[in-house]
Amino acid sequence: QRFSVVVVGAGPAGLTVGNILRAAGAECLVLETESREFIERRPRAGVIEEWAVRGLERRGLARNLLDRAELHTACEFRFDGERHRLPYQELTGSHHWVYPQPSLVTDLVREYADVRGGQIRFGVRDVRLHDLDGDRPSVSYTCPETGGRQVVECSFVAGCDGARGATRAALPPERARVARHDYGIGWLALLAEAPPAGDSVLFGCHPDGFAGQMPRSPEVTRYYLQCPPGDDPAGWPHERVWTELRRRLGAAGAPPPVEGPLIEKRVLDMHDYVTEPMAFGRLFLAGDAAHLVAPIAAKGMNLALHDAFLLGDALTAHLTSGDDSGLAGYSQACLRRVWDYQEFSQWLSELYHGTAAGEPFRAGTTLARLRRLFTSRAAAAAFAEQYLGTAAHY
Ligand code: FAD
Repeated sequence: QRFSVVVVGAGPAGLTVGNILRAAGAECLVLETESREFIERRPRAGVIEEWAVRGLERRGLARNLLDRAELHTACEFRFDGERHRLPYQELTGSHHWVYPQPSLVTDLVREYADVRGGQIRFGVRDVRLHDLDGDRPSVSYTCPETGGRQVVECSFVAGCDGARGATRAALPPERARVARHDYGIGWLALLAEAPPAGDSVLFGCHPDGFAGQMPRSPEVTRYYLQCPPGDDPAGWPHERVWTELRRRLGAAGAPPPVEGPLIEKRVLDMHDYVTEPMAFGRLFLAGDAAHLVAPIAAKGMNLALHDAFLLGDALTAHLTSGDDSGLAGYSQACLRRVWDYQEFSQWLSELYHGTAAGEPFRAGTTLARLRRLFTSRAAAAAFAEQYLGTAAHY
């Protein structure tokens, strides 16, 4: 069987592209290495920007989200033993939604496979791309049932297989540049079976290291604790985690974090990369496959959705009316938002980690930057625009 598009990877990017294509009646196959149960449970993101939710809504993909997601209108910084609320909706008229990534992926798989009749193969192995610079590319993979190789012909390949996928490697090094940045910082990423203390995202900028609280649902809360890169999560038993969270998020009049069992504990080494251009021949990359942004500003899934909207629409325009302008401008259009978000993440990283750098000068400038957010309405509004992704016209 020949498909118009083979999508590699069933994350937020791949499933959104697949759904857009199916809505236009395109023949599309999604290939995924994991099982359906696994992708529907893998915890990660939760904070989605308002424009991204509107983009999903316009494509008929936000029904459950709009029913169930929590609306966030402010965040809170804690430093120098004080709490400082930043009411970003008041400043920009825009807000965040909080909806766990596994819930979004569950909605997108159901819509793609069960409602729009899209084909999807789970548990595939050793995906390889062929003849990308001709007009009849193909994708081969090992079939989980038979162990045999399958070859699928197509017109386009959407590389949406995340940071550890195979498609990025198909870009010849002489035709693509990968720019990398390493923060030299680790975050212990935790999920606790406990409600958040208060209803907003908290950023604790403490001399002993950053701590963050990101509500996910009334029952589950994500926490982060700055740690050395490559640190062993086993060195962070229950007591140590909660003692550090209470200390680093502590502030006058603030309720302490609500303690609960830790259901996920892993160390993320903070780094970024950007692949330019995001296309080669008939291959178009989207989401983490093309660019990784450390979860400092909760931007990765938002960027994955932005790419997916542009790629889904561009492929549809080509397939239904022969209009190639979207595909021709795809990489450049994505990269403007990608670089804007990378720059904001770098800026925010200094705000989070500067007081703990062990350098009195950096601690001084970081505290000045923090205080300015609460003494200058213009500084607060500039932060809010970037935090919500409404700062630039992309
Ligand atoms: P993925 O979600 O990684 O999906 C790729 C899919 O491809 C996966 O299902 C994978 O199994 C599959 N795959 C891999 N290799 C292959 C292969 N060779 N063949 C076929 N399939 C393959 N972002 C936000 O916007 N907001 C947040 O609040 C936020 N919080 C985060 C918290 C944490 C702890 C982490 C780790 C990330 C967070 N992110 C956040 C980032 C966000 O989770 C990612 O940016 C997002 O998942 C990217 O989506 P994607 O579809 O590009 O890739």
